[in-house]
Order: sequence, then C-alpha cells, then structure tokens
Amino acid sequence: MNILVINAGSSSLKYQLYNMTTEDVLAKGRVERIGMDSSILTHEVDHQPEVREVSEILDHTTAIKKVLDMLTHKKFGVLKNIQDIQAVGHRVVHGGESFSESVVVDQKVKFEIRQLFDLAPLHNPAHMMGIVAVESNLPEVTQTVVFDTAFHQTMPSVSYLYAIPTVLYRKHKIRRYGFHGTSHDYVSQRAAEFLGRPLEELKLVSCHIGNGASCCAILHGKSYDTSMGMTPLEGLMMGTRSGDLDPAVVPFTINKEDLTLNEVNSMLNKHSGLLAVSGISSDMREVVEAMREGNEKARLAFEMYAYRIRKYIGAYIASMDGVDAIVFTAGVGENSDVLRKEICEKLTFFGVKFDDGRNAVRSSEPRRITTDDSPVQVLVVPTNEELLIARDTYKLVLNKLAADSSEL
Ligand code: ADP
Repeated sequence: MNILVINAGSSSLKYQLYNMTTEDVLAKGRVERIGMDSSILTHEVDHQPEVREVSEILDHTTAIKKVLDMLTHKKFGVLKNIQDIQAVGHRVVHGGESFSESVVVDQKVKFEIRQLFDLAPLHNPAHMMGIVAVESNLPEVTQTVVFDTAFHQTMPSVSYLYAIPTVLYRKHKIRRYGFHGTSHDYVSQRAAEFLGRPLEELKLVSCHIGNGASCCAILHGKSYDTSMGMTPLEGLMMGTRSGDLDPAVVPFTINKEDLTLNEVNSMLNKHSGLLAVSGISSDMREVVEAMREGNEKARLAFEMYAYRIRKYIGAYIASMDGVDAIVFTAGVGENSDVLRKEICEKLTFFGVKFDDGRNAVRSSEPRRITTDDSPVQVLVVPTNEELLIARDTYKLVLNKLAADSSEL
C-alpha cells in the first residue's frame, strides 16, 4: 500500500510518499510560496538529483495537483497513476480535547477541526486547506489526520490544568495541550525497542529539541506531562520563543514600552529565546560557533538553553518518581553533542554516567551516550514524525477495510 503524508502550512506544503510494505520513502518534496509570485516545487527521489519547478501555484488544490503530477511524471515520477495512492495522512497541529488518537477524515472530523481554529489559528486552517485540496484531487481516497496534541491527551488533570479560575477551562478550554506528540510517541517506542524492554514498564523523559522544543514525561508509554502548554510558547527556551516567564512581564512590558498586545506576542514568539539572548542567531550551530570564538552573550544563551532543559528533566523525574532513560531528538537534540554534554554531565545525582566518547559519535541510528553500567540511560533517537503518520494511516485504513468487508 502507498501512503502519501502531507504537512500543509499556510503557504507551503511538504509531502512524503511511503511504500508501507517496506516503509521506504519512494519520493518526497515540498511546495513553497503558495499564493505568491513564483511558487517552487522541489521533488526528490532516492539517489537522484533534486527537481525544482517554478510556476504559479495560487492555492493548495493546485499545489496538490502539481505534487500528484510530479509523482506520476514520466521521468521524475514513481507511480504509474494517481490511483496507486491508497491513502493520505495529514499532520494536524491541534486536536484539542476532541482527539486522543489519529482518525479517518469524515464530515464530523472536519467540523471538529474547524471548531479548533481558535486554538491554532496559524496551523489548523492551513491543514484544513490541505485536506480539502486532497479531496478535490483524489475524491475517492481515504484521508486520515494525525494530531500533534493527541499523544498528550493521557495527561492527568494535575498536569494539564492551569491554576486560574476553572470557568476559563470550562468556557474556553484554556489548559495545557502539549505539542510534538507524534515525535515523543515515535521516539519513546524506538527507545523501548533499543533498550529491549516493554514501553509499558518504562519511565522516560523525551527531549524534542529543534527550532521549537519540548520535554515530555512518558510514564509507561503514556504522556504524563509536557512542557508546551495551551500554545507552543510555554516551557523550554527555544530558537526564537521565550518559553516560561512570569505572565506579569506581559502587561508590564506593554505599559513600559508602549507596545500593543500583538507586538508583545510577536516579541515572545519570534524575537526571543536563543536569538534574543545571544544577539546572533536562533540557530544553535551559529551560537556554539560564536561561543567558541569567545562571545560571552552566545555563551550565556547556550548555558540558559541547556539549564532550562536540565531543570525540566529534573522536574519530570520527580513527577514520575524515577526514570529509566532520557531521550534526545530533533535537529538540536540529535546533532549538538556539546549541548547534550552540558546537560548530561550535571545529571549525576539521578544516576547518569555520561560517556563523552559515545556522545561524540554521529549516526542516524538510535544510540546510547551513557556507559553500559549507567543506572539511567541517555539515548539519542532520530525522530521520524512522517513515518509515524504513515503507520497510523496504514493501521486506520486496514481497520476500515476490515470493517467495510464485515458489513458486506
Ligand atoms: P523544526 O522541525 O522545529 O523546524 P528541527 O528539528 O529540524 O526543527 O531542528 C532545526 C534546528 O536544528 C536548527 O535551527 C538548528 O539550530 C539545529 N541544528 C541542526 N544541525 C545542528 C548541529 N549540527 N548542531 C546544532 N544544532 C543543529
């Protein structure tokens, strides 16, 4: 079965086509600048040079059509015709309290996703455009949605409620939802495989450290707490996001700097974090380089960034009353050995015996960066959210086929 995985943004769309028998990626690519001048489609098939096509792509429906044309292209394509795509799985950022697992798209599901536009105004409307665009191009195909928040729906109320008047939760559903759920879910499964132990027995802290970053306490395979909140602004210090801060900073800054609420919101999301403290970049590579050249602001930014992660790891070990393994993943977590070292060398109290040599090894496979006799293991596990979306879609389609045939 071939499954197309789509991650639709407001002006971009990423895709990966999977053969689910082998779990191989047959082709992948992205469409950028949808609705703007000179849209760009970039398409990649294993071991072949990237294909780039510039054209006018005014909306998501046309973008999907272009992708399907490329996938069935005589020279660059990998399929004979578009009927060879049996299902399409979409990444959807916010599933609110309505979705605790991936589901097949129907009218009710679309209605629910629309209800959640308020909670994720930058993301959910764009995902919906992707779903509708696939519907217009492939009306017969089964579509599924896989939510970033779904994995965290197992959190108990002590973790997800804010200590504010409960009427705000009842009326507006203001609470912690958490994000990066697909990634935390995927790496926790891979970590259990690597450790050769059932996930249901493990206490894990998963650290997804990319441009956006979050930690997750995973107790016996289920999310118990996570650092992102109602929006992806809470928690760790990130590339351009502040993470945790005293909420009183917001009205205080508005008054002192004569800023609007929107301006402060934009400051906290786009002009804070690593970028603001280092004054150099939101990219960890550039910050580390500047730090090595003796830049003190870069050093401070790096140390604050690592310190916040270490604090969350400590908090989650306390919240689960123990830990078997700590997992690092995503762009920074997988690649920055210096950051991992800064964090892990000061976790000795919890029983982490860090192995500098292992930490320096680069690999695309899951690996251990603690000594063999370390009571708590630290692992680096490359994430693969698209594969998890494809797997969930595959399961849902097989279930649907089984249900359809039993009805006959
Ligand atoms: P997202 O999906 O949140 O956009 P990624 O997980 O792809 O982010 O991570 C992107 C980030 O990874 C980049 O901003 C960069 O800072 C970081 N990164 C990539 N390679 C390295 C590296 N070798 N060392 C440190 N950071 C890296």
